[in-house]
Amino acid sequence: MSATPMKQLTTVLLAFGANLGDREATIREAQMMIANAAGVSEVKASPLRETIAFRIDGPDPDAPKYLNGVATLTTTLGAHELLDLVQSVEQHHGRTREVVWGDRTLDIDIIVFGGKAIADERLRVPHPRAHERDFVLSPWNDLDPHAVLMGHGRVKDLLEAVGDTTTAYDGASA
Ligand code: AMP
Repeated sequence: MSATPMKQLTTVLLAFGANLGDREATIREAQMMIANAAGVSEVKASPLRETIAFRIDGPDPDAPKYLNGVATLTTTLGAHELLDLVQSVEQHHGRTREVVWGDRTLDIDIIVFGGKAIADERLRVPHPRAHERDFVLSPWNDLDPHAVLMGHGRVKDLLEAVGDTTTAYDGASA
């Protein structure tokens, strides 16, 4: 008797950011699209936090503010299949990529993909800058105060080290 091979389930953390348009609706819709995709289950989203835009040369208080959040999920997709999915969701929301570090309707990063370390021309996980980004660490800490970032340690400690400049988002400000 031949058994069907079980597909491997991987736990993932995604980070979402938007600083143009209806930021909250965009992020929530993107999370819904990902939750409804084949091979994805158990999506759990953090509260959203608001952050000053960060340009290549530092924070820019004059630029539209970002909303940021993270979500955990489990998936049977491979890492590159998941990247295809998040990029198609970015495209759906009109994401353009003309300006590096520029304003964007939606940015989705894969922060961790199970215990895997990947570094190829399309994908680097764990995300190489996650440990120094309060806008990733802070909502992640809200979602899971015991979270650990592979290779760097406790998210709570990392957030304390970088300092949390994000603010809780109540849906009222623009
Ligand atoms: P960005 O404009 O910052 O969203 O960068 C998008 C590019 O980063 C895409 O070409 C991806 O292939 C690449 N990339 C590398 N690692 C990651 C990751 N962990 N999550 C999302 N995109 C990634």
